[in-house]
Amino acid sequence: MKVNIGPICDMPGGVVEFNGRQEAPNLQTGLVFTAPVAVNGSVTNTGEGFLVKALLSFQYKVNCDRCLKEFDRAQETEVVEEFMAGPVEPGEDDLFFRFSGDIIDLKDCISENVLFALPMSFICTPECKGLCPECGKDRNIESCTCVPQQLNPQFEKLRNLLSIEGGGPNGKSKK
Ligand SMILES: [Zn+2]
Ligand SMILES: [Zn+2]
Repeated sequence: MKVNIGPICDMPGGVVEFNGRQEAPNLQTGLVFTAPVAVNGSVTNTGEGFLVKALLSFQYKVNCDRCLKEFDRAQETEVVEEFMAGPVEPGEDDLFFRFSGDIIDLKDCISENVLFALPMSFICTPECKGLCPECGKDRNIESCTCVPQQLNPQFEKLRNLLSIEGGGPNGKSKK
């Protein structure tokens, strides 16, 4: 998504508003964006650079880390990034983005902020009970008898860890 800042290029304090859609970034994981990212914001000429403030709204499908079922989620994140005119200089840190001419291309800025906003783990609902580490049944749907009703949460964590790494309690992979 590109924003024309021509009208405020030489006008400190000037603001350009924008809204539109940007193609969602490509990921190598199982996460799939189901729509382009909706972008709504403004660019302000600060006198030293251009400050972009925007709200990004995006949607994706992903598998629950506990029960492995696919679910949809919508998320929003706020962006505040600075853009400076001119080419990237050697040794420059990445505290701001670069642009040239009258056009600010928000593509990289949007992709980075969307990826940064994604959580470390994906759980379909906070109550998700996950799969039984013994028999593999989805405990949201049916309960099974192979796990004691009151399992120590610490122990369960360890158990899940063991089965993820392929050596379940009985030495067999769950896959
Ligand atoms: Zn789940
Ligand atoms: Zn079971």
